[in-house]
Amino acid sequence: MPMQPPAFRPPGYRERKPWQLQPGAHDRRKRGRAGQRDRRQVLDEEPLCRSCLANGRTTPSERVDHITPLSEGGSDERSNKQGLCVPCHDAKSAAERAAAAADRAEARR
Ligand SMILES: [Zn+2]
Repeated sequence: MPMQPPAFRPPGYRERKPWQLQPGAHDRRKRGRAGQRDRRQVLDEEPLCRSCLANGRTTPSERVDHITPLSEGGSDERSNKQGLCVPCHDAKSAAERAAAAADRAEARR
């Protein structure tokens, strides 16, 4: 009966996790020209920051934001994207990072 010989594993060797086998497989973000085209389209359709508009201000949108972050399972489709100005995008990103950190702290407890 043929058997596989024992594989040599150098000290410190770690088995790859499933998400490390295919680079980018866990991340559905469009990249390259497809990503550039999508971002341009969103900014063309929404020249004003959506968050500022809701608060009665008119500020040009400069960043394309994922309404539900990709890390939270949001899609990379148009319906999940909005145009934001830099301060609004930075504030939203910071809030999302804080929420994710709180979730991780909660999971450790
Ligand atoms: Zn804004």
